[in-house]
Amino acid sequence: MAEASVQLAELIGQARSLVAFTGAGVSTESGIPDFRSPGGLWSRYRPVTFQEFLASHEARVSYWSRYLDMHPVFSGVQPNPGHYALAELERQGRLTAVITQNVDGLHQAAGSSEDKVIELHGRVDVTRCLDCGYTLRTNEVIERVQAGVEVPVCDRCGGWFKPATISFGQSLPAEALDRAIEVSTASDLFLAIGSSLTVHPAAALPGLALRHGARLVILNAMPTDYDQNAHLVIQGRSGSILADTIKHLGGSLTPH
Ligand code: NAD
Ligand code: ZN
Repeated sequence: MAEASVQLAELIGQARSLVAFTGAGVSTESGIPDFRSPGGLWSRYRPVTFQEFLASHEARVSYWSRYLDMHPVFSGVQPNPGHYALAELERQGRLTAVITQNVDGLHQAAGSSEDKVIELHGRVDVTRCLDCGYTLRTNEVIERVQAGVEVPVCDRCGGWFKPATISFGQSLPAEALDRAIEVSTASDLFLAIGSSLTVHPAAALPGLALRHGARLVILNAMPTDYDQNAHLVIQGRSGSILADTIKHLGGSLTPH
């Protein structure tokens, strides 16, 4: 049996519509912990649901203090070879879309074009007023929290500011979800990278692609519930495996 990255390169070479679907695992090699790493920062707090955020001052205070804690994790991070490999696949004309559950913006930072990246869970670097939609860089809003503001509010209307990520209990952006469903349905190769494939509705997309005839490849550090349905399961680190795959496809990973 050929090496996994050779097999992946062959499948990519044969594909007419390749869709990549990425989770937190694609960014761990950039230093952002994934959701389920033991003792990870995500497990330190019970998540504040969207309904709690709307309903109670205490919940909003707790939400922002947790955010203050997490802010350094997302600051100054750089893409890793996995992100660069996906940007290279786009340059080679081989990639229809990257659907991502990540909120870190690293696909675009690696050179994937804005219109190829479908963000299902929003963006951490943007903060928006829940009432009027006024938007600021999260950095600016965090400065106010660091200066002692417990719950930052909108400069225009006084509404509550919240980072533009999707909280538990908050619906996914409809347009992004529609596009994700459309490209998954039309894909003939669906490549799930660094996702435990457990967070719904996003995790339903590989099944959707399969039912519409796509081949499924799962590249993840740990087994997933979808492994038995996949055409190829690669267990390992996504950055190094995708970098090898690009070599077999004759590409380069030089950041552009
Ligand atoms: P998850 O934490 O549930 O699963 C990540 C998977 O990636 C795990 O199965 C792990 O084994 C695997 N993994 C870790 N490092 C890897 C590597 N180097 N190569 C290959 N696989 C690796 O993540 P999820 O499925 O994305 O769901 C968690 C939710 O939390 C997401 O919805 C996301 O919005 C949010 N989140 C985002 C970020 C980010 O933006 N970078 C980080 C953490 C969590
Ligand atoms: Zn406002």
